[in-house]
Amino acid sequence: MADASTQNTTERDGNRPALTVVAGPTAVGKGTVVKYLVEHYPQVYLSISATTRSPRVGEVDGRSYHFITRDDFDRRIERGDFLEWATVHRKHKYGTLRGPIEQALRQGRPALLEIDLEGARQVRTQMPGAQFVFIAPPSWDELVARLRGRGSESEEQMRTRLETARIEMAAKDEFDHVLVNDEVEDTAQALASVMGLT
Ligand code: 5GP
Repeated sequence: MADASTQNTTERDGNRPALTVVAGPTAVGKGTVVKYLVEHYPQVYLSISATTRSPRVGEVDGRSYHFITRDDFDRRIERGDFLEWATVHRKHKYGTLRGPIEQALRQGRPALLEIDLEGARQVRTQMPGAQFVFIAPPSWDELVARLRGRGSESEEQMRTRLETARIEMAAKDEFDHVLVNDEVEDTAQALASVMGLT
């Protein structure tokens, strides 16, 4: 459970949720939207997740993710370091470290998490004051095209990702806001508005 200091800081400016959780299917462009948002609104604290997957080309440890071993991840689960964690695409573990988020919230900074559906559900139980934003593709076909266009996944990985995407799409009504990602800038501005940054 979140401790009292966390619960007291889940609202900002009286009513704006201080913590915003963004989720949505693979390849929808959530990463790009979030990147645009933090570049334009540097007051936002963007959580850097821990993961057991290996870095992709261009990814930097401590910036894209904290790339850690399975053993380290499991130790941190036992220690209760994670606000939430999940096995994503049936393969690697990803988790949000509790400490930096709580610190940002104590400092009054709006905080943003970009995580999967399972993780978002865990945050909802732990932080009832948070708000949840689903980034949706303009259409299913467009999502498939974006995933293929990325070209970083094998056919099998793509099948697993699309299977997860179907499950995630079916859960979009659980979210407080659904933003269709047509143009990155527009979606990022809509997210900024939902977060009370504009
Ligand atoms: P990728 O491996 O492509 O960077 O990310 C795969 C998926 O993991 C994305 O859908 C992303 O939302 C999810 N993810 C990234 N960080 C976290 C996290 O800290 N917790 C959870 N539950 N999911 C995460």
